[in-house]
Amino acid sequence: MSTISTNTPTAELQALDAAHHMHPFTTGTELAEKGARVITRADGCWLNDSDGNRILDAMAGLWCVNVGYGRRELAQAAGRQMLELPYYNTFFQTTHVPAIQLSAKLAELAPGDLNHVFYASSGSEANDTNLRLVRTYWAEKGQPQRQWVISRWNAYHGSSVGSGSLGGMKGMHAQGGMPIPGIAHIDQPNWWAEGGDLSPEEFGLERARQLEAKILELGPDNVAAFIAEPIQGAGGVIVPPDSYWPEIQRIVDEYGILLIADEVICGFGRTGNWFGSQTMNIRPDIMTIAKGLSSGYQPIGGSILSDEVAAVISGTEFNHGYTYSGHPVACAVALENLRILQDDGIVDGVRDDTGPYLQERFASLTDHPLVGEAKIVGMMGSIALTPDKAARAAFAADAGTAGFMCRERCFANNLIMRHVGDRMIISPPLVISRSEIDTLFERAWQSLDEAHEQLK
Ligand code: PLP
Repeated sequence: MSTISTNTPTAELQALDAAHHMHPFTTGTELAEKGARVITRADGCWLNDSDGNRILDAMAGLWCVNVGYGRRELAQAAGRQMLELPYYNTFFQTTHVPAIQLSAKLAELAPGDLNHVFYASSGSEANDTNLRLVRTYWAEKGQPQRQWVISRWNAYHGSSVGSGSLGGMKGMHAQGGMPIPGIAHIDQPNWWAEGGDLSPEEFGLERARQLEAKILELGPDNVAAFIAEPIQGAGGVIVPPDSYWPEIQRIVDEYGILLIADEVICGFGRTGNWFGSQTMNIRPDIMTIAKGLSSGYQPIGGSILSDEVAAVISGTEFNHGYTYSGHPVACAVALENLRILQDDGIVDGVRDDTGPYLQERFASLTDHPLVGEAKIVGMMGSIALTPDKAARAAFAADAGTAGFMCRERCFANNLIMRHVGDRMIISPPLVISRSEIDTLFERAWQSLDEAHEQLK
């Protein structure tokens, strides 16, 4: 094999990549035809590719690079930890300083009595942990029949068999034998697409009450937990109507089932508070964390448990764990990342400064003829593309074509936005400046114009 580097011509890198590298959520034959975009460096909110383009990353990688790219402190934290203790496990009554420090810090930041952390290397693994945790919790409480976990269609909770089953992505379920038994789904609170003639508030209640109906259908004594993101991210940044979460909280309280808030995207400042549960004013028993926990600089995730759930689980040996649960280098980097988020006032900025500025500019995208609603909380937002705003109409043929076109125009204009069907999404690094927000907005508008022309 030839020696390759970031200076190797793009075509050569792409050919080698297509020959040997299987990409997630990608059609291999398309990849071989078009070649992958090769990212070579990054700083702040900007990516460089092998063709010399500077690209504004309005997705923070995969919703994770909260402190932006190129933070030397994080590289230094990793280097220091690798020299001191590159690895040790946390099985069998063993621990180390980075895991102790990070757990204590997370307990301080997490709301309520969420004080106990079980580590994984990703959000998928953490949600697999949660599935076993909640069932073990009920078994320990003498109710082993409580097996059902309720989730929502179009939710994304990861790609492993357990977390993919918890998710509600039908395209994923169609491959490889998912969902596994014991998981039920209700509809999502997507008013724009599914609200019909109901007001957003009526619709929010209607969708929340599907949870109650599902609990009654399965038998209240058979349900272990409900899992949801405070704001559904990969499903298209679906911001629920205000009536939704209070009603969900009422229902889980009334039937005594556990609430798992998947904070993998919403956590660590994304919604203007440390956690989306605070923004949505809910009281989860367990929170799933990953992504922004380390700003993506190290693979780390976990579950934060309430005092009560942790006490019940601690009564038995929980036969579960990963070689890299509480990996010292990942913990050291996550701890330093939390320090940066806090000391640099980044979470405060999302709430009080650049966040509101982004929201104001983003909301004005509804002036564009192709854009129906624009929804944004903190720094996660989406716009619905529509041929007819007043009717909240979907594009008749080939749902997703308009979104795909728009995303391609964004790429051509050196802006990374993502599309989910005909919704376009942003989730930029939380350190994005006002002038970068202006650039984001200008490029998004231009891309919308170009997509609009193509759709005529
Ligand atoms: N949960 C949510 C809400 C996510 O958005 C994701 C990933 O996008 C996951 C879980 C899975 O995390 P990971 O890709 O780290 O396994």
